[in-house]
Amino acid sequence: MSNVYMGKILMVNLSDGTFEEQKIPDAVYEKFLSGSGLGGFVLYNNIPAGADPLGPDNIIGFVSGLLTGSGSMFTGRWMVVGKSPLTGGYGEANCGGNFSPAIKRCGYDGIFFKGISEKPVYLHIENGKAELKDAGHLWGKDAIETEETLISDLTKTRKPKVACIGPAGEKLSCISGVSNDLGRMAARSGLGAVMGSKNLKALVLDGKNKIEPQNRNEIKILSQKCIKWVNFQPWFLSGNGLRILAAILRFMPTQTAMDGMLWKIMLRKWGTIALNQYSSELGDAPIKNWAGSNLDFSKDKSNSINPDTILETEIKKYYCYSCPLGCGGICKGNFSKGESHKPEYESVLALSGLCLNDNLESVFQMNDRLNRAGMDTISAGSTIAFAIECYERGILTKKDTDGLELTWGNSDAMMALLGKMIARDGIGDILADGVKIASEKIGKSSDQYAMHAGGQELPMHDSRFDPGFAVHYAVEATPGRHTIGSQLYYEMYRLWKKDKALPGIWLLYRKKSKYKVTEKKAIQAAASSKFVNVLNGAGGCMFGAQIGVDRVPFFEWLNAATGWDKTPAEYLEIGKRLQTMKQAFNIKHGVDPKSTKPNSRALGQPPQAKGANKKRTVYVDKMIENYWRQFGWNTRTGRPSEEDISSVNHT
Ligand code: SF4
Repeated sequence: MSNVYMGKILMVNLSDGTFEEQKIPDAVYEKFLSGSGLGGFVLYNNIPAGADPLGPDNIIGFVSGLLTGSGSMFTGRWMVVGKSPLTGGYGEANCGGNFSPAIKRCGYDGIFFKGISEKPVYLHIENGKAELKDAGHLWGKDAIETEETLISDLTKTRKPKVACIGPAGEKLSCISGVSNDLGRMAARSGLGAVMGSKNLKALVLDGKNKIEPQNRNEIKILSQKCIKWVNFQPWFLSGNGLRILAAILRFMPTQTAMDGMLWKIMLRKWGTIALNQYSSELGDAPIKNWAGSNLDFSKDKSNSINPDTILETEIKKYYCYSCPLGCGGICKGNFSKGESHKPEYESVLALSGLCLNDNLESVFQMNDRLNRAGMDTISAGSTIAFAIECYERGILTKKDTDGLELTWGNSDAMMALLGKMIARDGIGDILADGVKIASEKIGKSSDQYAMHAGGQELPMHDSRFDPGFAVHYAVEATPGRHTIGSQLYYEMYRLWKKDKALPGIWLLYRKKSKYKVTEKKAIQAAASSKFVNVLNGAGGCMFGAQIGVDRVPFFEWLNAATGWDKTPAEYLEIGKRLQTMKQAFNIKHGVDPKSTKPNSRALGQPPQAKGANKKRTVYVDKMIENYWRQFGWNTRTGRPSEEDISSVNHT
């Protein structure tokens, strides 16, 4: 019987060039969904313990979301999964664009690769026929050139969809990602290097399979209700107004809970860059490699990244597949193609405030360069900030940096350093694998300035401002990611509206209360992790989810698309199983759950003396214990019970 899922995956053995179609029983989808759930399930059961992330035993998978193609909204994200060379544990990243439905149209929920090809290849699937083709002419090309070349070479009447790596992945940079839609990036976990290690340059997908949800009419009715919320777009503040609002909020002893509709209005107008100055003022954006504060990047500098200024360069909006909101954009500028994807908030802040750089043109150029190289903008910006701090403290000298004066805000030196990182040239070779590996090579106690959790560079949300981020940076199987939970996110997901067992929120609360260790906060954090596992299984966009699950009906769409009759609480139980599976993957591969805490600077240990987060310390150890308790894991070790682990084994 047809369904929203295809019921099979393709396993490609790159060592001998063979293909194997594997049927996936319905029960697996009911237990693990698709997306990163199905992906994690395949990885957990097929990668041997201790496998080298860059060796033949690692498996990399490209998996579509369960809801992709169903007619639901905000559900066009695809997941790349594999053992991460950056963290040594479970690796996962996701991206929007138009690649997710292309996987299903080829008849698969996921396409997985094992082994290593002798020479560079790409996978081409057209009308049900899969072939590995020579990619010698593409090796060395950047991600955008690669996609354009493949499309122009292969297009006759239709446009295939492409996911590929750039030079960073080819050179096995542990902070490289996978690109699609001409510069969108599944950036985290360093999985571009896994593709590079397998000599796999790209996937080119051109299928015609239909995607048949169980109840298309019900999905349509749900989508019509959802669109009303998305289309509500009253007049809103200017970029300057947002900055001033943040400056006022900073001085208040209390905080109001965030309604995701406000965030939606900002996203629709500007995209994620709405937060550029707002977060810098408020203390949400880490400044000067997390050692500075809003005072170091105040109005005179942060005006350079005013969202209105960036919006002036936007020539059109960019929408992912099935998205009614369109937070993306294409900007004109001094790029080789004359236009480039609008940089995201994370990229802008990592390349500006984190390095005290107020040269917007350099931010645009570095963002475009990173998208082309296929390197994670968060990790690259963090690594540059780390190198600058090492230089300013005398740990790195001009001799070490090949003559570059790596001082705060020196945008020319930043751009030159980035070129070296992409090319693995000189100091760039040391930095190309991120801050943890670089600090181990540099020594001289430089690890104290390496801002990461479990090897992955921290995003642009300060855990001293929202301690919920500190918990998720530490406890997730892919540590150091901002796309799962925080106090703010729980407020916006509105899960308690659908699962009455979950705690509601205070609309107004004292800021100091954020730092208290309570069981209620642990329940909220655990619920966020469970929910985002469901979301990533469904292929859902987090920004859609942040409008609130009572307005954007992911749970109801799942039932309508599959014919299941599960309650939101039952879906969250699935999310719990997926979280346990990913934790079990890490334990199987020797990652100690206690080793993935963020750097102590990110926890306010010691607390800052001035700025928006002054005197803030996050007592994360107790918070982590409480979080593990919610999953029934050992609160000392973070280890799930044998019974829980056996429930994710393939039998
Ligand atoms: S809100 Fe933005 S990231 Fe999410 S699906 Fe839409 S365009 Fe893509």
